[in-house]
Amino acid sequence: MAAAQSSRTVEEIWAHSKMAEDDRAMLKEESWREGVRATCPSCGVALPEKVKFCPECGAKILQVVFCKECGAKLEPGTKFCPECGTKTGS
Ligand SMILES: [Zn+2]
Ligand SMILES: [Zn+2]
Repeated sequence: MAAAQSSRTVEEIWAHSKMAEDDRAMLKEESWREGVRATCPSCGVALPEKVKFCPECGAKILQVVFCKECGAKLEPGTKFCPECGTKTGS
């Protein structure tokens, strides 16, 4: 019982870790290099560039920024990355 639980936990950690690495690699290679890649929080349409309002539904779009060190998504106005502590600057 204990062994089964332990092995399952390890598997979950590995899966989680791999997923996070994939996410970060993707974010580093695509999102933050190309600029902001965001989707409308209201209608879900992909937003092409740094638009302030959704071209489809007119919803106000907040700037999405990714940490330049680890690729974590940062909330607007964040001064330090919540993942790695890097100062985000502007
Ligand atoms: Zn929209
Ligand atoms: Zn970071």
